[in-house]
Amino acid sequence: MTPEETITCVDCGGTAHLLTTWPDDDPPVPGDVLAYRCSDCLDRWDVVMGDASEGPAR
Ligand SMILES: [Zn+2]
Repeated sequence: MTPEETITCVDCGGTAHLLTTWPDDDPPVPGDVLAYRCSDCLDRWDVVMGDASEGPAR
């Protein structure tokens, strides 16, 4: 499973870019939290890996 490198900002509709990085041999696993930063409104979004539904896990 590969996390999205960008997501759509829920607040402004802009593009939020992945902040989290990881080694090639140690990819994120379900349950890990990925942080995104919106390039338009600078809001931060935390997305939990492994959640099949879109959007925040809680
Ligand atoms: Zn935004």
